Amino acid sequence: MATKIFVDAGHGGTNPGAVGNGVIEANVNLAVATALANNLRNMGYDVREYRTTNDENVITPIAADLRKRAQTANDWGADYFISIHTNSSLDPAVNGFETYVYRLGTRSAQLAQSIQDSVVQRLGVKDNGVRQANFSVLRNTRMPAVLVELGYLSNPTEALNLNSPLWQNKMASAIADGINNYIKR
Ligand SMILES: [Zn+2]
Repeated sequence: MATKIFVDAGHGGTNPGAVGNGVIEANVNLAVATALANNLRNMGYDVREYRTTNDENVITPIAADLRKRAQTANDWGADYFISIHTNSSLDPAVNGFETYVYRLGTRSAQLAQSIQDSVVQRLGVKDNGVRQANFSVLRNTRMPAVLVELGYLSNPTEALNLNSPLWQNKMASAIADGINNYIKR
């Protein structure tokens, strides 16, 4: 049986997430998550996407929506959970790629490091490393889970890149390779 990977495009519906330099996080997340899912399917993985449109499956309030995302992955019996997000900062100079896990020193953190290495090498973005965070989707999932922050919409250069389909596809391909490198290690 193929390894099951759950791909969660962050936000959606009435919750756009971060907005910076005219670019909306929910849209960037969906574009990269969709390309990531396609890359992983081409590698032979069994992939389930939480949402494939702006609204699909998104509920309110946000706390319930986040619990539903984790629950859906748990019910499906996912082997890995990948949540795609895009960051924002009050300081427009802040930039770079980072990954979050619930606990460092875990399989989740090893998977995150593999994604981190692949993206930094392929896209040449600043390496902000693997970080620990008490995010709902990381806390409530039962399988190795990583939340990816693709870059900062508050940074003009990164916002331009993150809005570009070419960059989105390159990012998705690098994330897929990072996941595959970890699973096939
Ligand atoms: Zn987000």
